[in-house]
Amino acid sequence: MITRHFKIPVTSPGAILRREMELETLLGKEVAEKTKHGELVSDKIIIELIEDYVRLHGAHGFVFDGFPRTIPQAEALQGILQRHRTPLDLAIWLDVSADTISDRISHRLQCQSCGFTTSEGSAGFSERAVCPYCDGPLVRRSDDDASVLQTRLSEFNGKTQPLGDFYEKLGALRKLDGNRDRDAVFADVSRLVEQAA
Ligand code: AMP
Repeated sequence: MITRHFKIPVTSPGAILRREMELETLLGKEVAEKTKHGELVSDKIIIELIEDYVRLHGAHGFVFDGFPRTIPQAEALQGILQRHRTPLDLAIWLDVSADTISDRISHRLQCQSCGFTTSEGSAGFSERAVCPYCDGPLVRRSDDDASVLQTRLSEFNGKTQPLGDFYEKLGALRKLDGNRDRDAVFADVSRLVEQAA
């Protein structure tokens, strides 16, 4: 939604890694075990992906989704932004309860081609329907599973939670209640992006 509304490219290491796994590249094979079980992959791999992204496509601004997820990643990002003379405008923290996450992933459908994400049942979408933007297949993510979710949540609690303090200290953090419906959350995100512009 951010890309379409603000024309700011959104990039997500998770989406890049899923593509690499689909294509069975060396990188895809290297990360498959960890992502399948909901563990974070190494900081080194993720930081290299982000550095390449900023070097090649970072000239006109960008949004990262799912990055950084650890303190070493956040520290590396500060260095990357400095080297590329790109200031950090905003870090948005979406507070979502474990129950809401569990409910959402049990209905989540994602386009295998462009990454468009929706919910089963919303606007009549179902598995095997096609993406409204690119006609790609809407599928379930293999890690959207109750047991994998437990690992993903514990990785979040151990490694990602401390980023709240990190970005608070930089004065960049804005927290939003992500338990509300998509339009309400998007309205707040839009307001923050407009204020930061
Ligand atoms: P996501 O699509 O953001 O839910 O990420 C899917 C999976 O990709 C995660 O469970 C991790 O295995 C891996 N991954 C994505 N982003 C990161 C990151 N910033 N650091 C480490 N692993 C990541």
